Amino acid sequence: MRIALIAHDGKKADMVHFLRGFKAHLNKIDLKLVATGTTGSHIEKSGYEVEKLMSGPYGGDAQIAAMAAQKELDLVVFFRDPLDKHPHEPDVQMLMRICDVHNIPLATNPASADLMFKQLTLNHKDGK
Ligand code: PGA
Repeated sequence: MRIALIAHDGKKADMVHFLRGFKAHLNKIDLKLVATGTTGSHIEKSGYEVEKLMSGPYGGDAQIAAMAAQKELDLVVFFRDPLDKHPHEPDVQMLMRICDVHNIPLATNPASADLMFKQLTLNHKDGK
């Protein structure tokens, strides 16, 4: 299971909090986590192994979009901050578009990520 994780600055604390909540469950699953640079550093501090790509504004979102287009991802969690401006908004839009083109589950807030991760841990229990 390959999961990409991205959080805008105003949502990084939410990402860490979210992942901490699932730690016991996710430890049992064979996971490969990738993240944009700064998000990845935060995630490492919460005890996960994660491959860090470039920082979002420097191309990290585009790198994740490329992975999605090449079918290298099973799920994308992107906690966007809708109340802030982002210099790399075109990359953000591209990533979301590519996820839709390739039908890759995309969670843009903790409530939807929560539902997806619960399903993931259920699937794992059922051996799917
Ligand atoms: P960052 O990038 O994890 O390097 O901050 C996230 C983003 O803003 O897309």
